[in-house]
Amino acid sequence: MQTVRHFFPEFNTWLDRLPDTRVPDACTYGTRFLAWWGLCLYLLQLGSRRQLDFELRDGGPRVLANLNRLAATTQTTLPVHDTLDYFAGHVAVAGWEALRTRIVQRLLRMKALDAARLLGSFVLLLDATGLLCFPERHCAHCLTQRHGNQTLYLHHVLEAKLLGPGGVVVSLGSEFIENADAGDRKGKSAEEVKQDCELKAMQRLLPRIKQEFPQLRVTLAVDSLYACGPVFALAAALDWSFVVTFKEGRTPALWQEYQALLAACPQNRLRRQWADGRVQVFGWVQQLDYEDSEGRRWQFDALECTETTANGGRQYFAWLTGLPVGVKTVEEIVQKGGRYRWKVENEGFNRQKNSGLNLQHVYSIDPEKWKVYYLLLQIAFVLVQLLERGSLLRRLAEEAGRPVWKLFGSLKNVARRLLESLRFVAWEDEWFDPRQAGKMRIGLDTS
Ligand SMILES: [Zn+2]
Repeated sequence: MQTVRHFFPEFNTWLDRLPDTRVPDACTYGTRFLAWWGLCLYLLQLGSRRQLDFELRDGGPRVLANLNRLAATTQTTLPVHDTLDYFAGHVAVAGWEALRTRIVQRLLRMKALDAARLLGSFVLLLDATGLLCFPERHCAHCLTQRHGNQTLYLHHVLEAKLLGPGGVVVSLGSEFIENADAGDRKGKSAEEVKQDCELKAMQRLLPRIKQEFPQLRVTLAVDSLYACGPVFALAAALDWSFVVTFKEGRTPALWQEYQALLAACPQNRLRRQWADGRVQVFGWVQQLDYEDSEGRRWQFDALECTETTANGGRQYFAWLTGLPVGVKTVEEIVQKGGRYRWKVENEGFNRQKNSGLNLQHVYSIDPEKWKVYYLLLQIAFVLVQLLERGSLLRRLAEEAGRPVWKLFGSLKNVARRLLESLRFVAWEDEWFDPRQAGKMRIGLDTS
């Protein structure tokens, strides 16, 4: 919790700026207090709203005082989990998005993410995932999917995440994939309603991010689904670059041309041997021509990496990119744009799903409230990573003479210890003193 206040000394004033909650007088809790109450659900990885009652309300003599300390409030009682749900219904999604924007702007200004920059630009990965799935229609905006004679009703989200050092991913924007034209569903079958999809969601999400971060130099790192004209056109319009997974099946003619040109340019190769026996061979072709389905012409470079391990394992990857590929840049594009994205993408949503964050849990069946829970989770996940990867915890481990993971045993235990601290330890004022924070240099572990 100190980590939050140290990274963002004005965090509480940001919470004050959440839009007018319109919480009636009957609710005695202020915005700041309830926002922290909601963040605790994820910071402490409680897994469900009911756990707030069991773990915080009914247990621990210090919870109220510590929460008051965090939020700088003077509440005299603790809320119940339903209070949070009520609150979620009264603070607009846009308010939470604005809070996230402030957090990211601060991290960028602190240069906390700079070590992961690719040729000077920030790597933004797009990742869609299924969140909720119901056997019956749950709201007017559900996506529908036929499986045999059964129809499933789904809610998906497209998430844009900035890559930071050491595997940190910072949520930058979220776009819910849902059927907006659901209003004219009358008389149409599920199949006839034009379904929203990842690529359409991208067209809504990216311009919004550009508006919020106009100066940010961005390279999109995306999978082969995005190797198409609309994506190249949008990236050009936003003045962003891209690294897109290159697959034969997605753009067969381009793939053939690439293979032919690569064979004709044997000088476009670079070989690296690593101490652990791994060998990476890079190859590239410049200025491939591509005509998209709408007749627009594009020119970009393509690159590949074949990696073999000492025990005979072999992996092959290829990408298309708007970045200039050559002997000086090919390695960096592969490491920071291609391989790293792949690794982090596999960790990001997985961790949110398979931990106490419990991403796919139905925190609310009200679709609007549920979006608020989703954003709370994304914000908390940024804070959790800062705690895990930040230098405060590292310093603590150094003092104890042990690596961070040994200090707590597992990341799950970090959340447990935090919960115990909130319940039983009297948090002192000076721990949260912003002047103390100013004296400390806090950075992210880049290893
Ligand atoms: Zn629905």
